Amino acid sequence: LSKKYPEPRMFRVHDRLRKTYDVVIIGGGGHGLASAYYLARDYGITNVAVLEKGYIGGGNTGRNTTIIRSNYLTPEGVAFYDQSVKLFEDLSQDFDLNIFYSTRGHFTLAHTDSALRTMRWRAEVNKHLGVESEVVGPEEVKKACPPIDITCGGHAPILGALYHAPGAVARHDAVAWGYGRGADKRGVEIHQRTEVLGIDVEGGRVKGVQTSRGYISTRKVLCAVAGSTPRITQMVGLRTPIYVHPLQAMVTEPLKPWLDTILVSGSLHVYVSQSDRGELVMGASLDPYEVQSTRSTLDFVEGLAAHMLDLFPFLSNVKVNRQWAGMADMTPDFAPIMGKTPIEGFYLDAGWGTWGFKATPVCGKTMSYTVANDQDHELIRAFSLSRFAEFNLTGEKGAASVGH
Ligand code: FAD
Repeated sequence: LSKKYPEPRMFRVHDRLRKTYDVVIIGGGGHGLASAYYLARDYGITNVAVLEKGYIGGGNTGRNTTIIRSNYLTPEGVAFYDQSVKLFEDLSQDFDLNIFYSTRGHFTLAHTDSALRTMRWRAEVNKHLGVESEVVGPEEVKKACPPIDITCGGHAPILGALYHAPGAVARHDAVAWGYGRGADKRGVEIHQRTEVLGIDVEGGRVKGVQTSRGYISTRKVLCAVAGSTPRITQMVGLRTPIYVHPLQAMVTEPLKPWLDTILVSGSLHVYVSQSDRGELVMGASLDPYEVQSTRSTLDFVEGLAAHMLDLFPFLSNVKVNRQWAGMADMTPDFAPIMGKTPIEGFYLDAGWGTWGFKATPVCGKTMSYTVANDQDHELIRAFSLSRFAEFNLTGEKGAASVGH
């Protein structure tokens, strides 16, 4: 008598790896899974393996503070992230899975004249490309968020802000699961606890991948491993300017809903939103040292809590429930590195630092195109690895650093 059990809710588990795949994707974060999803859905390429050394979404995808926006500084950045916001807006329907996408409006606070200057610049670039952004005065910030202390305890009065109406948050795990489930349904294999240990390159072209569960032959490898990028690029002898710093975050105990918007302050090194569960989700800037570690520190909690109290003194008795860290793969110009590389069949989706969650859908779209056609998608041309050798950087620091 054999019992009939329901289909797996998310994705199948495979006992063994195939000997060969058309495409191997290293990294089961949002970017790797989104690329697999669109490869299968848009190009019919389903003989694909996603190899994840831990569990899906266990990297930066499940550790980020989920801020989604497109108010960047360079025209290339704005066009790219705008496409991602548009994809995000329909993702729950696309997946038939609720990703709790919530448009909240996003304020980047200015406490100095120079910060205001950069915001005016960003607002103009954004408007030019049809993205809603405007500079507003402190009274507008107070109107949108009445509990805020606009003087920040007298330390750093708010002079104005860049307001970006489409700014949103979403449930990060659900984004990974939605892409994973959709890819699996179309025939892609997801292999958790499968680590890539080496990449076989012969005559300048990819031949296969050595994993903790055996060898796979393949002619196309997409590397989407965020903070582990230098380890993988080393396997193919590729040099990139990526350096890795920890980035930490924390949440409070759940509170009744009181914070409707997303607030970011570059000067105070703090950003905050309130999740659907009521927790305040908070982060700061990068840890100042280069290290590949996901340990969180007391120093971080103390510093961030002090700055939160500058903005919201009434939170002084609220408890912090959890803190954690991810590994941010930073680039010198704060723009990603995407596309083809000098090694034939080796594609890179990296340099996502502190800002890559919002790019998950557009990365999937553009990287699947690039892998399927062996040609860089037009939206990612400004992000090629060769820009560093050509001194042709895509300077996003004014919009990408603490603002995420
Ligand atoms: P990941 O989700 O890190 O996935 C990579 C996967 O590769 C991991 O699961 C890892 O286990 C796997 N892997 C590594 N090496 C191997 C190997 N050898 N073999 C097999 N698998 C391997 N971005 C925003 O847009 N908004 C934000 O508000 C925001 N806040 C952030 C806050 C924090 C605290 C952090 C850490 C990041 C934040 N980010 C934010 C950045 C964002 O999280 C990342 O850029 C994004 O999630 C990267 O996704 P990914 O799929 O490329 O990488």
